[in-house]
Amino acid sequence: MAIRITDDCINCGACEPECPNNAIYEGGVQWRYKDGTHLSGQILLPNGLSLDAEAAHPPIATEYYYIVPSKCTECTGFHEEPQCAAVCPVDCCLPDPDHVETPAQLLAKKAFLHDNQPPAPDIIQVYLEDLERA
Ligand code: SF4
Ligand code: SF4
Repeated sequence: MAIRITDDCINCGACEPECPNNAIYEGGVQWRYKDGTHLSGQILLPNGLSLDAEAAHPPIATEYYYIVPSKCTECTGFHEEPQCAAVCPVDCCLPDPDHVETPAQLLAKKAFLHDNQPPAPDIIQVYLEDLERA
């Protein structure tokens, strides 16, 4: 599952540079799919909708650091454990029960973000949620 940052965050910034997907943003900062990934331009999703990798999306949180669920892979393919949780001094990077994903789905997210693979149909829900929120 994706990791989320709780409101115990003290805004130290230690987690942001550790994320291999650039899924972590400072509160109030806009996020983009292209940040820290290979994604660029317009990308067609299996349901026919299109994802603009260049577009800036509104911040998910304004008071503290936040994680974009569709960019978080639990560090699959890069590290053995979530790096944000490993460095957080107040242990506020926790599994997100609203975004439960299997190891295979996390690997598919990583392949989409970095390895030029199309998004598998069973992982697009989280992209649709993030696009809807944006
Ligand atoms: S678990 Fe890994 S991929 Fe997800 S936000 Fe933390 S550092 Fe980034
Ligand atoms: S490491 Fe923890 S406390 Fe520091 S910004 Fe990240 S989530 Fe917040």
